[in-house]
Amino acid sequence: MRLQRYEICALPGDGIGPEIMRVALDVLHAVGRKHDIEFACTEALIGGCAIDACGCALPEATLDLARSADAVLLGAVGGPRWDTVDPDKPRPEDGLLGMRKELGLYANLRPVRVYDALVDASPLKPDAVRGCDILIVRELTGGLYFGEHKTIEGVAGAGVGAAMGAHAHDIMEYDEYEIERIARRAFEAATIRQGKVTSVDKANVLDTGRLWRKVVHRVAAEYPDIEIVDMLVDNCAMQLIMNPGQFDVILTENTFGDILSDEASVLAGSLGLLASASLGDGTSLFEPCHGSAPDIAGKNIANPLAQVLSAAMMLAHGLDLDEAASDVTRAVDAVLADGWRTADIAQDTTDAAHVLGTREMGERIVACIEEER
Ligand code: NAD
Repeated sequence: MRLQRYEICALPGDGIGPEIMRVALDVLHAVGRKHDIEFACTEALIGGCAIDACGCALPEATLDLARSADAVLLGAVGGPRWDTVDPDKPRPEDGLLGMRKELGLYANLRPVRVYDALVDASPLKPDAVRGCDILIVRELTGGLYFGEHKTIEGVAGAGVGAAMGAHAHDIMEYDEYEIERIARRAFEAATIRQGKVTSVDKANVLDTGRLWRKVVHRVAAEYPDIEIVDMLVDNCAMQLIMNPGQFDVILTENTFGDILSDEASVLAGSLGLLASASLGDGTSLFEPCHGSAPDIAGKNIANPLAQVLSAAMMLAHGLDLDEAASDVTRAVDAVLADGWRTADIAQDTTDAAHVLGTREMGERIVACIEEER
């Protein structure tokens, strides 16, 4: 008889999504067996596969399932098959943006941790990345991605040589309350970390940046023990490579956070290692930072660790199952410390017998959780 039961909405999506989701669900069930917890996982469509089946990237049935679940675990969406420049055609990303909006997921937490066992997997010097442990707190439902997007054909003077041409715009907007609530998340996170928040903006050029800075400092005043540093986004892009050890929590808006977190993945050695949590005031969503990696889909070579670590974040942040979450992260640590690698984090010096496929990496993690029993 299981003591606890949680409803999980599992959305594998496209590309490598189904392969890495399979691994994450196996890991979840393994940790569930250990702690007498039942994870009732129901799968649904999102992204390109939903467009194929239902004509839209976020079917109502998927949204209903997500709303009624205790947490949502997502793989990745998209791929060349659904790429289009026609603004009237559905795109896989609409599914993701729609889900974030409908669930009110305004806070995206993206930990970037450099594993001791993988310092050499980073293209940066080992001394520069050793010990790096950064939490990127990205605003997720405002800014450029959620402002008005418009393309107008045949505008006088918009073409070459003042001829008729196309005009496009994307509007970046922020309300004070949106900045305040994400800032508070960042300062709260810093209180249980190293006690430093670097707030990244473009206050020298953008009005949204100036409002960002003003509101962040107002929130900072409530946290006198937390150090606050302002940094312009272009400088931050450079500092992340030059001196990543200076960062603890990076607080930033939607678009900057999207770009900086991909850049920061280089510190860890691969996008395939980076998990994320998207939180609001209700059901939360957990997903890897990477996309659907169509170039390696179906080959059993994708790194499933970002998806597995997203499941661990779900256990900790979405379900308050801290012990179960630690079991998963400990198993990942142990497997990496034992030298097991997927192709993306293998090196010239890695013994070929230690390079595992997606499924086999999952089996190692499950075995490790079961051994700890
Ligand atoms: P991507 O993150 O899918 O891939 C970038 C590179 O990283 C590729 O070389 C890929 O093989 C590699 N990679 C990514 N995840 C990996 C993993 N787990 N293991 C090993 N290698 C991995 O980004 P992209 O190529 O720019 O985009 C591909 C598709 O994904 C596009 O359709 C894009 O719109 C979509 N996308 C989706 C999300 C999401 O679902 N959250 C995020 C970003 C991009």
